[in-house]
Amino acid sequence: MTNQAKNHYQIVVVGGGSAGITVTAQLLKQESNLDIAIVEPSDKHYYQPAWTLVGGGAYKLEDTIKEERDCIPTGASWIKAAIAELNPEQNTVITQDGRSITYDYLIVCPGIQIDWHLIKGLPEALGKNGVTSNYDVRYAPYTWELIKNFKGGNAIFTFPATPIKCAGAPQKIMYLADETFCKNGVRNQTKITYGVAVAKIFGVPGYCEALEKVAAKKEILVQYKHNLKEIKADRKEAIFDVTTEAGVQEISVNYDMIHVAPPMSPPDFIKTSSLAGKEGPSKGWVDVNKFTLQHNVFPNVFSLGDASSLPTSRTAAAIRKQAPVLAHNLLALIGARSLDSQYGGYTCCPLVTGYGKTIMAEFDYDGKPKSSFPFDPTQERWSMWMVKRYVLPYLYWNRMLKGESFEPDNWKFLLNR
Ligand SMILES: Cc1cc2nc3c(=O)[nH]c(=O)nc-3n(C[C@H](O)[C@H](O)[C@H](O)COP(=O)(O)OP(=O)(O)OC[C@H]3O[C@@H](n4cnc5c(N)ncnc54)[C@H](O)[C@@H]3O)c2cc1C
Repeated sequence: MTNQAKNHYQIVVVGGGSAGITVTAQLLKQESNLDIAIVEPSDKHYYQPAWTLVGGGAYKLEDTIKEERDCIPTGASWIKAAIAELNPEQNTVITQDGRSITYDYLIVCPGIQIDWHLIKGLPEALGKNGVTSNYDVRYAPYTWELIKNFKGGNAIFTFPATPIKCAGAPQKIMYLADETFCKNGVRNQTKITYGVAVAKIFGVPGYCEALEKVAAKKEILVQYKHNLKEIKADRKEAIFDVTTEAGVQEISVNYDMIHVAPPMSPPDFIKTSSLAGKEGPSKGWVDVNKFTLQHNVFPNVFSLGDASSLPTSRTAAAIRKQAPVLAHNLLALIGARSLDSQYGGYTCCPLVTGYGKTIMAEFDYDGKPKSSFPFDPTQERWSMWMVKRYVLPYLYWNRMLKGESFEPDNWKFLLNR
């Protein structure tokens, strides 16, 4: 499967995460003789959407991890390396160990970069003395240690000022913590604060109001325009920049536990490449047409997933709908046909609001609630918790990564539960 000798491929895929594996599997399913290499440095493939449940003690960490070699689709080559440089003018990518690989077509999907260092004191503080984050596989189990052993005090959850993957994850873990604190009899002695750098609890109307109600019912203090900028671990202090009409003011809040959703950005090697958008919301991201997923400058380059400029919420669910469009359009380009498949911005964030409760937030470029299920998607439902907890992980490993489509049209058994 790994082929270190060859230096030219018809298609090179940068990143073998959710997007890279899914799109490669779909391409090979349709054209098994394609010559494709996936460049991916990691030995492991992660099902990140379940890290929220790991942090909430409702999922085993080991069930979110598989060997990357077992995920690489049959027929694809795996180059175990990280890309350091993209030279689309020469149809070349350069690996960190200096190898130069050429291609006819390129798919860029190395995910989003987590910028822990942008919060002063955070990198050193993580994973001990009450500081955690589900955004890293190493710390999700520690989140559960903190939550289940919490004895009362200040529990703080944060949301940063940058785009992030799964924008619902920072609050989902807070709702699981709230329920665990209630169950363990410490909720009365606990103040839960959600420090949100932006002005809304969720970007999509309909789901936003539903979540405001959930937070209010749980007596969670939601503090808008509070941007975490420093952790003083020795004093257990979180420093926020608070924006008001009068300007920006710095405040310090004591914590007994803090779950941080860190700032994120496009990977540095994308930001500095000529594939990056130059201005506006695309700046730094792989600059693709939001419908066809083809690069706006280099027609033999495509992108999907978290590293792309696609103006939708960054989720694995979005990739489920992006991958078939990209595969179709790339094969059309290879066959000199028109690129007539379009992505409508579909994404989905299963908003876990408690154990056994989930709002299945689906929406697209219109920014309006949209459901695959024939019921009001803004309601908390047990059936959607079952989908999040059991159905989606199964479908991810067994259908999505294998290039099989799955549509929930016939999930009638879930109706109105
Ligand atoms: C806590 C948490 C909760 C989430 N919850 C949900 C959810 O409920 N529902 C949902 O749909 N999504 C959820 N997500 C988001 C989802 O996991 C991501 O949107 C999805 O994994 C993005 O896929 P991707 O392929 O773009 O990036 P990734 O899956 O992150 O893969 C990127 C790959 O690129 C590789 N790579 C990085 N740098 C390089 C390089 N230089 N060269 C080559 N390869 C490189 C990486 O090793 C990685 O394998 C969640 C994520 C987190 C962290």
